[in-house]
Amino acid sequence: MSVDSGDAKIRVAVIGSGPAGSYAAGHLLRHSATELHVDLFERLPTPWGLVRAGVAPDHPKIKSVTRVYEKTAEHARLRYFGNVEFGRDLTVEDLRAHYNAIIYAVGTPIDRELGIPGETLERSYAATDFVGWYNAHPDFAEHEFDLRGERAVVIGAGNVALDVARMLMLSERELACTDVADHALAVLARSNIREVLVVGRRGPQQAAFTNPELLELAELAEAEVAVSREDIALCDGIEDPGIDAIARRNDKIMHDYAALAGGEKARRIELRFLLSPIEIHGTNAVEAVTFARNELVASDDGSLRARATAERLTIPAHTVFRAIGYRGTPLPGVPFDEARAVIANAGGRVTDEQGARHGEYVVGWAKRGPSGVIGTNKKDAADTVERLLEDLGGGRLLSPAPVSDAALATYIHDRAPHAVDYAGWVRIDRHELALGAASGRPRVKLTTIAELLAIAEREQ
Ligand code: NAP
Repeated sequence: MSVDSGDAKIRVAVIGSGPAGSYAAGHLLRHSATELHVDLFERLPTPWGLVRAGVAPDHPKIKSVTRVYEKTAEHARLRYFGNVEFGRDLTVEDLRAHYNAIIYAVGTPIDRELGIPGETLERSYAATDFVGWYNAHPDFAEHEFDLRGERAVVIGAGNVALDVARMLMLSERELACTDVADHALAVLARSNIREVLVVGRRGPQQAAFTNPELLELAELAEAEVAVSREDIALCDGIEDPGIDAIARRNDKIMHDYAALAGGEKARRIELRFLLSPIEIHGTNAVEAVTFARNELVASDDGSLRARATAERLTIPAHTVFRAIGYRGTPLPGVPFDEARAVIANAGGRVTDEQGARHGEYVVGWAKRGPSGVIGTNKKDAADTVERLLEDLGGGRLLSPAPVSDAALATYIHDRAPHAVDYAGWVRIDRHELALGAASGRPRVKLTTIAELLAIAEREQ
């Protein structure tokens, strides 16, 4: 019989229900000799972090990973508390007083800055904002994107840059069968953009694309893909000593793209290389971008870095999307490594000036920075959970006063009266799926916290 005294329970609070937090929760529930109890906190009413709010709408297969997270969330020793914000509703002291351990899985939510003149002009957009907007993240639902011009420049040669380029070039028909936010569908369908330049500061071998993402550019219904022959020729003959199989394949694909004749479709994505933006121009809004032509030079560690030559190139453009990576922001009361823009940690154990902070851990992008694909977070979370289990064995976790499940839930609800439990999320999920089924789409996402709570809290 289960007794709700709670005194024998080892409780772990996981902050963030994206891939890193969900995998950490799964490892905690599965791999421990001790029965661990997990409370999974999420700032939004809806779970799954970047799988819901980051993965592009035309990548439904990638999103199907949520089935794994659902299994974890349905586990008898896990409770989900959505719409509870760390630092606002619950502080680190609150959690340290009630849990044996805390795992931060908060990601790296904001965009990195270029630090060049004109970056804040109108129509110069952070890719992070655009991604949140087309994915119906409530924080970005009110954003506006002006897509009336014919040319957009996307700065960065990573997968987010490709997501942005593709989303700008998908036809209305291709978009309409996805779960793209309704507000984004309306704007993207009216877009005048005919050409998207994706601009990398180094060469094709150094691009951060993955192979499937690069290959699918050739499959768009109304847009063709091209690679600047001039740019690629400047890199030919320079073999990157650090090239791996993915980069080698990328290089081959891009050479194939450079050889295409083109001119068959009304819209195009062109990949450009060896160009660093040095200024975005415009009176109030973006009108052009000036780039420095780069050359590749060896760094001390042997990797190839970009070095500006004296050559300059100004490209007229109506919009700029800055897709040069994400960065973390500090959480109240949690040590932050400013240089790396992640939570200060050593192998997943949170650290401060005194060394490891007992009972506090970090996983995912908040731990290692914004790199890797979704699956990378599985191993990453397992490593941190290993450290936590070592500390459990060594008596180095926190020792809060015993509390029952019910008393702890009441405590949380007192601080976050509109906390959404897993049943509330299931109501949202079913509602969105039903809206989707009614309009021939996989899902129609609700976009405001008020709408989400209204469904989550609806009487059954
Ligand atoms: P990323 O992979 O780190 O790529 C960032 C790009 O920005 C790099 O090409 C980088 O060039 C460039 N860059 C950085 N600073 C710059 C500057 N000052 N000027 C010009 N260019 C600059 O970042 P991301 O695209 O944001 O993606 C984040 C992570 O999510 C990646 O691991 C990515 O694979 C993953 N992701 C995966 C998918 C998918 O699997 N479908 C989709 C989206 C994102 P350098 O290399 O020269 O620094």
